[in-house]
Amino acid sequence: MAQFDYLIVGAGLSGATMARLLLDAGKSVLVLEKRNEVGGNIATKMEDGICIHLYGPHIFHTSDEKAFDFLKKYIEVYPFINSPLAYYKGKYYHMPFNLNTFDEIWGVKTAEEAKAKIEEEVAKEGIKEPKNLEEQALSMVGRTIYETLIKGYTEKQWGRECKDLPASIIKRLPLRFERNNSYFNDTYQCQPKGGYTPFIERLLKGAEVRLGVDYLADRDNWNMFAERIIFTGRLDEFFEFEYGHLAWRSLRFENEWKEIPDFQHNAVVNYTDRKPGYTRITEHKHFDPACPNKERTYLTYEYPDAFEEGKIPYYTVNDEANTALAEKYKEKAKGLENVYFLGRLALYRYFDMDDTILAAMELFEKLEK
Ligand code: UDP
Repeated sequence: MAQFDYLIVGAGLSGATMARLLLDAGKSVLVLEKRNEVGGNIATKMEDGICIHLYGPHIFHTSDEKAFDFLKKYIEVYPFINSPLAYYKGKYYHMPFNLNTFDEIWGVKTAEEAKAKIEEEVAKEGIKEPKNLEEQALSMVGRTIYETLIKGYTEKQWGRECKDLPASIIKRLPLRFERNNSYFNDTYQCQPKGGYTPFIERLLKGAEVRLGVDYLADRDNWNMFAERIIFTGRLDEFFEFEYGHLAWRSLRFENEWKEIPDFQHNAVVNYTDRKPGYTRITEHKHFDPACPNKERTYLTYEYPDAFEEGKIPYYTVNDEANTALAEKYKEKAKGLENVYFLGRLALYRYFDMDDTILAAMELFEKLEK
């Protein structure tokens, strides 16, 4: 008999959710985490009364009661509606694409006028079946919005031309003919009080957590510790790149304290032109309307970055070639006994936080019910 029922590789949201579900079912769990902190890319820290999102802005949004209840079970939450602004050539625009945006762009005041304007622009493009992100954007909102709010941001973000990106990336942005600036369509939108790290810590309570441990560097040893393994790291790395490397996109953050109470009056401002090189500035205090710090503010400039070994993978690049390569690895994974793959890195898919929780619940059901 091994010492633990389960070994979980990775203490991000996937690993921590899985750990909680298993622990509550009476299982013993060992969690190995490569970094020296838990939380993966949703990790936060409190500094001077401000909750800092260490690896990019995260907003919990869901329409699923189960995912929302799970979050609330382990942390108090407060409502937060994300309404980023976009900045382009000296002007601010509301996001996501809604009547406020169309008013700012064309001066249209009603849904009918906005629809007519978009239809006119879309018709000019004559795209029947959008085959890439550029065509998808042009056939959704027309050329003016594409060039003002999408092209520059997207090409910086992905380091590729919009023509060479999958349409799916842009499909997650809503298009509305009301004056509604909520970035998400979901029923529940909130932030955890005190940040995501305390939430993750509660999920991990009762597990044996070892930080600063690279499972893959010594897997034969670690495999002896448990009956079953849940792996939430990189899919291609798990298989030692046998079929080749999957593409990932990384990020680089520049942070700064400013000795002023407020910098941009909003949590997130996107920079949609090719320059500056950052895609967005996050002003963390605005994630919390009750933030006690009235003197200073903390800013993060987010620069997209090419991924290479040693950097953090943030995004999968789900073009056809990489999605097919991931499928090949996943086929191979099916042949493994007692090893299960979970989360963004291991399933090579963009997961929102609620989907991450739901995917862990689904795997738990499969394993334990
Ligand atoms: N996007 C854009 N302009 C913006 C914001 C987003 O063109 O001002 C596009 C861009 O291609 C981005 C995608 O929409 O990669 C998805 O944006 P989202 O905000 O969901 O990205 P995330 O927060 O996951 O980085």
